[in-house]
Amino acid sequence: MFKVLVTEHIAEPGINILKSQPDVELTYDPELFRNFERILEIIPEYDAIITRSGTPVNKELISRAKKLKVIGRAGVGVDNIDLEEASRRGILVVNAPTGNTLAATEHTMGMMIAAARQIPYAHRSLKDERRWDRKKFMGVELSGKTLGIIGFGRIGSRVGIRAKAFDMKVIAYDPYIKKEKAEKLGVELVDNLDTLLERADVITVHTPLTDETRNMITRKEIEKMKDGVILLNIARGGIINEKDLYDALVSGKVRAAAVDVFVKEPATDNILLEAPNIIVTPHIGANTYESQTNVAVIIANQVLAALRGEEVEFSVNAPFEETTAKVMKPWMELAEKLGKFAVQVACARSKEIVIEYSGDLGEDVKAFTAAFLKGFLAPIVDLPVNYINAPFLAKERGINIVEVRREEGVNFKRLIRISCGTEKGTFSIAGTVIEDKFPKIVEINGFLFDLSPEGKFLLIKNIDIPGVIGKLGSILGKHNVNIAGFQLGRVDRGKEAKAVILVDDDVPEEAIEEMKKLPEIMEIQKVDLG
Ligand code: NAD
Repeated sequence: MFKVLVTEHIAEPGINILKSQPDVELTYDPELFRNFERILEIIPEYDAIITRSGTPVNKELISRAKKLKVIGRAGVGVDNIDLEEASRRGILVVNAPTGNTLAATEHTMGMMIAAARQIPYAHRSLKDERRWDRKKFMGVELSGKTLGIIGFGRIGSRVGIRAKAFDMKVIAYDPYIKKEKAEKLGVELVDNLDTLLERADVITVHTPLTDETRNMITRKEIEKMKDGVILLNIARGGIINEKDLYDALVSGKVRAAAVDVFVKEPATDNILLEAPNIIVTPHIGANTYESQTNVAVIIANQVLAALRGEEVEFSVNAPFEETTAKVMKPWMELAEKLGKFAVQVACARSKEIVIEYSGDLGEDVKAFTAAFLKGFLAPIVDLPVNYINAPFLAKERGINIVEVRREEGVNFKRLIRISCGTEKGTFSIAGTVIEDKFPKIVEINGFLFDLSPEGKFLLIKNIDIPGVIGKLGSILGKHNVNIAGFQLGRVDRGKEAKAVILVDDDVPEEAIEEMKKLPEIMEIQKVDLG
């Protein structure tokens, strides 16, 4: 049974989903966020907590939450959550970034038309001042005009689709997306911001607020725009500089602007409220009944999936995309097993481990590194290790991971090789995946093998002379250890060889000691890959 605590109000459909699960015991107290002491008291019992922005999920709370596996944020921003501490403890943080996409998209469209046709001004003139002033409210048509979208993500692209239905030509600037994404929607992706600024009649920003996007539009950028441009910010306050926008509205360079978000909110004394031809709303882009329901339903499902170990779509702190882990599952298994092998045999004390990725293993190899670290750290740390905290724990232990990308390998198209420095020189182990399904260890310290990475092994370094196998076999037989397989890797006859004996049973220490006494045996190690 999973215990789930909801400390703030979330829409009923989300609560109903949680309530109806046979494996969930729900505590829903929408006012609990006001009583942090009480949350601290009860949190040790819970497997999951769901909050909005009012509950500080800080270090103190997380350190008491001994059973916590997932933190769900019903919304987008995670400023109230200590992500680093959650990650260190292996707690997954999930949010619901798509719940309000359509709400913000439609608000943008509404603001665009309102600005082009001065609808709020005409409304106020007739309704509040009782004036029938038709000449004053001349607008511009959107049809045939060029819309410039800065940030072509979830909202930006949906605004683009709708603008095309208005017969606008749509161009976009977003250096982080593929050209095909825009082309598929009939939108031209331009290579630099200036091109967009020069060509667009209406410009709308839909980027997150980052160091790069803060003050992305200032006086300098506005000067490059067409005279009479319409500007919109329904994304985040500060992407368009407020003072510079005010000046451009006063001078008439910008015909009209529409703004839902401000640098400082509530924005009741913002300079933009003094500007002519501006339409403002108090950050209501996400305020629809549908979006509140979407967010609640998404977060309930995300938390359930996380608790049950199923695929999670919107993880904030997983070190890689969930789809990588799913599509590349055999490679994840391989990487984890290589970690398990390396830590048992040679690299446990190494402060630097090199992971070579050869051939096409996708753009993001972080998933494999996390899987390797999970296998590597699990036997040597006393915390449960998962993909989320493995990179953090490695950093804490001062293990430096060097990732190297290479073209196709010589013997194998795709290969993962681990190497680490030890007192006895460099140890290396490599593996691949056969037929996209079967992980295999193919090389240990330069000796070739074909090993499925499971079960128990003896890894033996010996002199390649006749009779060694027989002697080892009889010692194991004497100690009731059944041999399941045997593989020999050698470079030249009569020189050093490496043997792997697969065993069904645990090999007792006395047997190991006996084998070590054989003059042909240089080294013998036990490996258990589970
Ligand atoms: P998203 O992550 O899907 O899209 C953002 C896009 O911006 C991405 O494609 C990214 O590549 C692009 N981008 C990032 N840096 C850029 C840069 N320097 N130049 C150009 N493009 C850049 O996000 P989304 O869900 O579409 O949200 C967009 C914005 O809308 C966010 O700031 C979000 O907080 C805001 N938002 C506001 C409201 C509201 O109530 N007004 C509601 C929802 C979202």
